[in-house]
Amino acid sequence: MEKVCPVCNGLVAVAENCPRCGRRLVDGGALENYFGPYSPYMDVASFQQGAPDVHCVHLLYCPACGYDVRAAWDLVAI
Ligand SMILES: [Zn+2]
Ligand SMILES: [Zn+2]
Repeated sequence: MEKVCPVCNGLVAVAENCPRCGRRLVDGGALENYFGPYSPYMDVASFQQGAPDVHCVHLLYCPACGYDVRAAWDLVAI
């Protein structure tokens, strides 16, 4: 059984609101798409906690005020 990110695959919608202005945050995509898997900017170890394949980390951003935040989703089996 394959495990996939539900957000990358469109199975769930991002439903986080901006803590600054309350607008709905937009999914900017998985962080891999920004930095690559071996980038020094990958400070996502705190999300992964030794199990690198159980989470997909996305960048969420607010189109209204520019706030951005990382969020991790558990992978789901399909
Ligand atoms: Zn994802
Ligand atoms: Zn905002």
